[in-house]
Amino acid sequence: MKNADIVYLIEKELAAGSRTNIELRDVNANFNKKAVSAMSKSQPNIGWTTLLAGIGATTDSIDMAQPGYYDKLNTMLKSVSLTNWKTYLKAATIQNYAPVLSQPFINASFEFNKVLSGEDTQKSRRQTMTAIVDNLLGQALGQLYVKRYFNEDAKKRVLTLVNNLQKAFENRINQLDWMSDSTKVKAKEKLYTIIKKIGYPDKWRNYDNVQITRTKLFENIISLNKNDFKYELAKLNKPVDKTEWQTTPSTVTAYYNPPVNEIVFPAGILQYPYFDFSADDAINYGGIGMVIGHEMTHAFDDQGAQFDKDGNVKNWWTKEDYRKFKERTTKLSELYSTFTVLDTVHIKGPLTLGENTADNGGIAIAYDAFKMTEQGKGNEKIDGFMPDQRFFLSIARIWRVKTRDAFLRTYVNTNPHSPAMWRVNGPLMNFAPFYRAFNIQPDDKNYKAENERVRIW
Ligand SMILES: [Zn+2]
Repeated sequence: MKNADIVYLIEKELAAGSRTNIELRDVNANFNKKAVSAMSKSQPNIGWTTLLAGIGATTDSIDMAQPGYYDKLNTMLKSVSLTNWKTYLKAATIQNYAPVLSQPFINASFEFNKVLSGEDTQKSRRQTMTAIVDNLLGQALGQLYVKRYFNEDAKKRVLTLVNNLQKAFENRINQLDWMSDSTKVKAKEKLYTIIKKIGYPDKWRNYDNVQITRTKLFENIISLNKNDFKYELAKLNKPVDKTEWQTTPSTVTAYYNPPVNEIVFPAGILQYPYFDFSADDAINYGGIGMVIGHEMTHAFDDQGAQFDKDGNVKNWWTKEDYRKFKERTTKLSELYSTFTVLDTVHIKGPLTLGENTADNGGIAIAYDAFKMTEQGKGNEKIDGFMPDQRFFLSIARIWRVKTRDAFLRTYVNTNPHSPAMWRVNGPLMNFAPFYRAFNIQPDDKNYKAENERVRIW
């Protein structure tokens, strides 16, 4: 058998023993704390005690997340030969480090990824190096980045936006016709407990243990990876540090983190076209406002709803309210499954449910908050567009991207977000103010009759 076939067959079998990305959305099913002593009995071939000692981890219990996967691994450790395991591990290591090895490895890795992404040109050395520095030394690079691209006035303005959206969300909760008053109280408690992180962390990580040598890229990477591993391992048996950031300040992203009940907006996304200090409110509420609303809504999507205000997996819903919530999310999931991305490729409604819930809620909340501003209440045209129209145009603008078909195929099967176009068209076809702003009529392409529109938050 060729080495490639050996690697492929092992990967395939391990994958068969793993939960699907849709199954992994069930938070409770994914929490499986087990005593190491019990694990040593149920999966003797893994050698848990030796393994943990080998990596320097002192613990008597572990959240296994997917016990089925380890059962599979336990069996395979006997059924697959040692020679084949060595081939597999060698391939995995080379593949992992290929981008920082010599050109033949870089080329082979690129050819492989090409099939999945459709990318036809290799990244320049500059792009690759910038990404490596950001990934592995992000909090050092971040200090330089925020000095140049972020200021405290911007931070204040964004915080005002966040606070206005929080108020708008509270109003929407108050007006929900499907939720009881007791659950509304809990929902609002959770909403106002959300920790807000804007721009960059209060305390920076240090890299004192890392050795960087100008002429040795590979060794630098190894030193950084080792340091990272130690950093993560040092968290074991300590309380969670809620001030920690999971992204670098220069990254264009934002996230909600259910176990901490926090929303995080790094300096990288607080830039044009998401946020522009000199732009009118319509532009900023449609841009970064939508993103903020999106992240807040994650606290109340199919996964977020399973965590309480302190980030613990604990039910805070009445049975009846949770049933009604599920009824609505199911409808949203079904709607998105009807969207065709490419020929036979459809969006996977259940996989993208959390993100779609956040997109639909986020736009509605951002819009309500925008309507509280002076511009939102007025009718003054700018560049020929009414305030509401500018708000919606700004939403469409932040999702302008170009993708290849190969990329889209992989994306739809693996990514929990809907492709960019549907992050705009999906929520807007459910949102009455959009119909009014552009006078959308039944014969327009994405028109939905009122009873077909889905609204959760
Ligand atoms: Zn999201």
